Amino acid sequence: MNYKLWIDGKWVDSQGGKKMQIENPATGEKIAEVQEATREDVDKAVQAAKTAFYDGRWSRKTPSERSKAIWKLADLLEANSEEFARVESENTGKPYKFLSLASDVPFTVDNLRFFATAARDTHGSHAGEFMTGYTSMYRREPVGVIGQITPWNYPLNMAGWKIGPALAAGCTIVLKPAPGTPLTTLMLAELIQEAGIPDGVVNILSGGNDAGQAIAEHPDVRMICVTGSSGTGKKVMKTAADTLKRVHLELGGKAPFIVFDDSDPELVAAKASFAATANTGQDCTAATRIYVEKGRAKDMREAVVEAMKNVKVGLPFDDGVVMGPLISGIQRERVTGFVDRAKSQGAKILTGGGVPKDLQKGYYFEPTVISNVQQDWEIVQSEVFGPVITVQEFDNEEQALHLGNDVLYGLAASVFTKDVGRAMRLTSQLEFGTVWVNDHLPITSETPHGGFKQSGFGKDLSAEAVGDYQITKHVMIAHS
Ligand code: NAD
Repeated sequence: MNYKLWIDGKWVDSQGGKKMQIENPATGEKIAEVQEATREDVDKAVQAAKTAFYDGRWSRKTPSERSKAIWKLADLLEANSEEFARVESENTGKPYKFLSLASDVPFTVDNLRFFATAARDTHGSHAGEFMTGYTSMYRREPVGVIGQITPWNYPLNMAGWKIGPALAAGCTIVLKPAPGTPLTTLMLAELIQEAGIPDGVVNILSGGNDAGQAIAEHPDVRMICVTGSSGTGKKVMKTAADTLKRVHLELGGKAPFIVFDDSDPELVAAKASFAATANTGQDCTAATRIYVEKGRAKDMREAVVEAMKNVKVGLPFDDGVVMGPLISGIQRERVTGFVDRAKSQGAKILTGGGVPKDLQKGYYFEPTVISNVQQDWEIVQSEVFGPVITVQEFDNEEQALHLGNDVLYGLAASVFTKDVGRAMRLTSQLEFGTVWVNDHLPITSETPHGGFKQSGFGKDLSAEAVGDYQITKHVMIAHS
């Protein structure tokens, strides 16, 4: 499988001639070769998107026409579900049946259908007389050429979350997937064309961080959207300041999972083990810090450890597998480093902590539970991005709230309790973009996803995402 760059509705060679090898993290084998976009390629893609924006081939289509094309893209993706799911699993190591086929592809289809519908929403556009003899109109207009940069953990989903709302708003796009996982994003290119979205509206460049940097710098890009680590978000924001472009950042997370004594240990264990190991813990909203109330801490801890031991880890295409490998050797070294440093500080590994004995090939890591940790340790404060969860205890609601909020991140959190009043107090005081009660991880196309604090700003999904790609214009008309 070899791909070129997709610019102005055609596959073209990179002007630099450099190639990137794409591997399967479950085996370490090479599965594809793609091209590495240069600064010149970025400029070419931006010029295509700029021409497409200003000649109105997409921005001046009616909402109904835009909606129809986005819906068709969703239909085409759905018709090719198995192929997309297979390639996504080969490129990321996700369990094929459990994740790629059952979740990532159908969720992206649903996301696109949601944005096809949202394309017809006229929210925010209205008119009125606010000065005698004048009519004012507010028009919601597309921002222009958008640079979109995605991470490796959910390549297809992230592409859908980015292009869906931008297309609904009438923008044109230069999209760059993560260096190691570009395949399903590149596969979307021809479906976009077949759906009737005009050439030049969506341009897709495989490439490294330098290509991302060139997109963020480009003066004709009006808005830069990144899903990635908080470090990358900070760099992009600084870069964007030079051209004062809009910035939309979906960044890292370190979600607390707060458990009160009145919760059912079985439910807690099932939810915690799933939320810590789904996508091998490489999820920005993954449960990473369990805080249990002191009274039943032992029961809760034991139930979680047992559930983590029972998570079926294996090859992505084997039946019953719910957790695959980490994305790369580098990522496994990173995760191992976090766990080893915690151990050397005095942490206790309750289960896991290393490579599964029967899965030495590829980049596997065991579901891991760690106790005896302190709030200010790296393992509690930093994003590990692996199937690793820490367990700590708290005395009361006030302390639980303090510990939950005591990180730089603010993407997602959960509270487990049967006390509705307590749940309501905590949902209002936890500083996170999503707070679940008695669950952790569910997400829908309608619900806004995005962070507080150093998890970034701007929303993916929901009607709010479309609004982020629009700009309000005031038109004032004198009656005479
Ligand atoms: P990353 O920050 O290393 O890279 C993300 C993307 O940014 C890649 O495409 C990369 O090439 C590009 N990039 C890197 N440096 C850049 C620069 N200076 N200018 C422009 N682009 C640049 O992140 P990753 O390792 O691919 O993904 C994991 C991270 O993504 C985690 O921190 C995770 O929490 C986060 N994430 C967040 C969300 C969310 O919705 N908040 C969702 C998924 C992943």
